[in-house]
Amino acid sequence: MKDVMQDTARDDAADKGTAAITVAHGDGIGPEIMEQTLRLLDAAHARISVEEIRIGETLYQEGYSSGIAPEAWDTLRRNPVLLKAPITTPQGGGYKSLNVTIRKTLGLYANVRPVRAFAPFVPSAHPAMDLIIVRENEEDLYAGIEHQQTAEVVQCLKLVSRPGCERLIRYAFELARRAGRRKLTCMTKDNIMKLSDGLFHRVFDEVATEYPELETEHYIIDIGAARLAATPERFDVVVTMNLYGDILSDIVAEIAGSVGLGGSANVGDTVAMFEAIHGSAPDIAGQGKANPAGLMQAACLMLTHLGQAETASHMGNALLRTLEDGIHTADLGHSSHTKRRVGTKAFADAVIARLGESPRHLASFPPGDDRGPIQVRTRAATKPKKQLVGVDVFLDWDMPNRQAAVLGKALEALTGDEFQLKMVTNRGVKVYPGGFPETFCTDHWRCRFVSCAARLSDDGSTMLESKPLAPECIPALLLRIAQAGFHCIKTEHLYEFDGERGYSLGQGE
Ligand code: NAD
Repeated sequence: MKDVMQDTARDDAADKGTAAITVAHGDGIGPEIMEQTLRLLDAAHARISVEEIRIGETLYQEGYSSGIAPEAWDTLRRNPVLLKAPITTPQGGGYKSLNVTIRKTLGLYANVRPVRAFAPFVPSAHPAMDLIIVRENEEDLYAGIEHQQTAEVVQCLKLVSRPGCERLIRYAFELARRAGRRKLTCMTKDNIMKLSDGLFHRVFDEVATEYPELETEHYIIDIGAARLAATPERFDVVVTMNLYGDILSDIVAEIAGSVGLGGSANVGDTVAMFEAIHGSAPDIAGQGKANPAGLMQAACLMLTHLGQAETASHMGNALLRTLEDGIHTADLGHSSHTKRRVGTKAFADAVIARLGESPRHLASFPPGDDRGPIQVRTRAATKPKKQLVGVDVFLDWDMPNRQAAVLGKALEALTGDEFQLKMVTNRGVKVYPGGFPETFCTDHWRCRFVSCAARLSDDGSTMLESKPLAPECIPALLLRIAQAGFHCIKTEHLYEFDGERGYSLGQGE
């Protein structure tokens, strides 16, 4: 079958508009569902030529820690898309996630997951839901920068960049416009993470002004997720950060009742990857009963991305009609609408037989257009004026009773002329000056030193105001701290950008 497809694709390659695609057959049920998906693409006359790569379990076993051989990257970079079947991630340490490696290496910044219910043909508690989750794919807590800093405390860095937010958010708005969607909902936790999540929310609001025809709203992620689970039909396009999007995408796929039916796209500037949302299902591999619909949906998304929207609609509508006609694989359970329980190949045969037909009850597959990949451009930002105004020094300090006042007083003797000890916090809670004995303290202390110049206020009392610091003040401060016997584990410089504070205040400040 594979050779037939390749030959067909090669013959077609001479045709104008044929796209070379990379195909990975994957593990478990991967090869079975990919074979049927390629048959469908062939039968629908998709203008593609196929180049195959090997990825997954066998590559891990051959010693490639990311499950991919170096030469496969040339193929991946040469072709505009990868159609990927699921792979099995080996258990145990020393292996890297292939999906994360591909996403990061190829800069696939947007994860797009359309989720709709197919009720009553596939039972769903939310029959009217039809939404798209657009998730930022590269940043946030997924940078994978983690450290153990003391015996008791580990940290994970949450990195968020303006260009990273902007291109993802612009992608979401463009997608919504092209797909004829009406509303975008942004979800963040910017009531707590005012700088990182706040940046995402702010950029969302900025970009929204360029799309006046689209309704926009923002939810704090906790209430937003609850509303999404309770009334998903209220949502249209949800745009959110990496971790939140990871969780939300699985929740909505689950409540739609269609985990086996969903496809997703991971989109970058030059390359995009399309796959089913489910895994390699090793428990049913080789039995011919896997549902190929998720990978078929991914193939429809791929064709829309490639500007072959008409072929995508053909395939998508034939798939919907097959579900309506009650031709179901075993994973869909039994509904009163199931007429024939079929295996992988028979399901694909049924879809192929219905090419050219449309669903009679379900909404048709979105028509799309032939414009090809959505390209977004971020705006060139002006560089703000950056001024150093202090430093947070993190200490590993574990004296008996962990009394913050003992630490605070010792540090006040080390400030020199340039600094003032503003506060000491433990897990973000201010414990010096002031503080309560009830506050639980770990061995991890954040000590904030700010630059200061004393001046008299109008009523004669002393006030403090910050002034710019020379960078060499900081190593000098750290040296005094080290010589006094304290163990510094890290520092974070405090900056102002165009006079605006670029750091959070401690709780209790
Ligand atoms: P899974 O999605 O593979 O399977 C969960 C359950 O759903 C199983 O009972 C399975 O039989 C069933 N199922 C899944 N897809 C089906 C389909 N198309 N038709 C019929 N039934 C289907 O999740 P899992 O068991 O947690 O993971 C199995 C492997 O897949 C793991 O190694 C995991 O790392 C990997 N995985 C890969 C990807 C990917 O490549 N994108 C995604 C998720 C999981």
